[in-house]
Amino acid sequence: MILPKIKILDEKDKTLRKISKEVTFPLTEEDQKIIDDIITYLTMSQIEKYYTKYNLRPGMGLAFIQLGIPKNIFVIVEEVDDEKFENYVIINPKMLSHSEELIYVGEGEGCLSVNREVTGIVPRYARMRISYQDRDGQRQELRVREDLSVAFQHEMDHLNGILFVDKIDAKNPFKDKEKMREI
Ligand code: ZN
Repeated sequence: MILPKIKILDEKDKTLRKISKEVTFPLTEEDQKIIDDIITYLTMSQIEKYYTKYNLRPGMGLAFIQLGIPKNIFVIVEEVDDEKFENYVIINPKMLSHSEELIYVGEGEGCLSVNREVTGIVPRYARMRISYQDRDGQRQELRVREDLSVAFQHEMDHLNGILFVDKIDAKNPFKDKEKMREI
């Protein structure tokens, strides 16, 4: 695999605060290429041989706005088995429903735009159902749970200019811990 040349914006960049816009179809060739590049990048970042060689931080999700493009598109590459991956290309997503139950990632969430250690609780729905468009513009529905649900909510926040660090209570980073389940 060849590492795609992509530049991920750092949290200090105000572009990350932009609200991304609805995407129209068909996708441009440029957007198709960026989607493929993101899939390759995220996949390589989770394979030891590559993340060691290229000094990559492992990541499972990336939104277009993190490359400076304010479009409602994000990609998630989930490792489902040892170096076996499932890709999600999500365009114009909408949350249809979510669980009452809240969860948080015990070791803390990570983001390829946040290049520092951040501890604290980011409350997320344990399960949710979304509607989105695929690369062909077809409306699809999807149910996600647990860590995949966290990843989807994290990326959907990016489309609204929100970073996970915004959701941590600065004065009390572990506030309401007992009201949520740690994953
Ligand atoms: Zn992120």
